[in-house]
Amino acid sequence: MHWLVETPEQVAKVHKLKKTIVGSCNKCNGTGIDKTGEQCGCMHEFRRLTYYLMGNLPEITWDKDLASFAERGGDKKAIKYTESFINHLDKFIKNGIGPLFYGDYGTGKTTLACIIGKEAINAGKSVWFYTMAEFVDDIVKNQSGYTQRDIASLRAEKSEILILDDFGRENPNQKSGLQSEIRTKMDKILRIRADQRLVTIGSTNLDIKKTANLYGQSIFSILQASMKFIEVKGSDLRQKVADTIWDKIIE
Ligand SMILES: [Zn+2]
Repeated sequence: MHWLVETPEQVAKVHKLKKTIVGSCNKCNGTGIDKTGEQCGCMHEFRRLTYYLMGNLPEITWDKDLASFAERGGDKKAIKYTESFINHLDKFIKNGIGPLFYGDYGTGKTTLACIIGKEAINAGKSVWFYTMAEFVDDIVKNQSGYTQRDIASLRAEKSEILILDDFGRENPNQKSGLQSEIRTKMDKILRIRADQRLVTIGSTNLDIKKTANLYGQSIFSILQASMKFIEVKGSDLRQKVADTIWDKIIE
């Protein structure tokens, strides 16, 4: 089941996407119908991307896959783990186990999480992506009205796959520890998900010990029971991307 377009903000984003994908199509001149009267390929593309949009997957990851990740020099072991997860998606979903990618900045942890998200959406699963900062904003200190908070809670609690990106980022001052309100709310949502065996996927720059320290034993034990900690090694892939673009421009 895919998430549906609900808020006015989402409707606006979908309109913009249609304009970009279908509006610029030369095969059908933006009508969505090709010369033979069939639905144009751009409409399929538009639908696929709309599902990514409705899963809140960052646009920058929409064209990423494991092949392109490997080409950029991504960690081979992490790629293998990700591949097996995708290949056994239904079994992992049945058992409620997901990967927690940890490692240095720029090694591609978010990309790996989103590649799984894309594959799961393509397979018809409900997926929701949250940066931890957004998560805390929506769930804990949301100021933008109850409707949005209700939708956010629903996504966080009910998605077959919830991606929580950048654990620890919501708490820039690591020394002070996590606010108890955040901790309580996180604990509740992660527990609801674990009880229903819903998959949570995570990424973090923290190592295992720091993750345990930041979240405390209660949350950490839920993470441990429902996530496989996978280290993602390698040099900063983002720097490599910048290097490649730089070279292309001056060649
Ligand atoms: Zn078209």
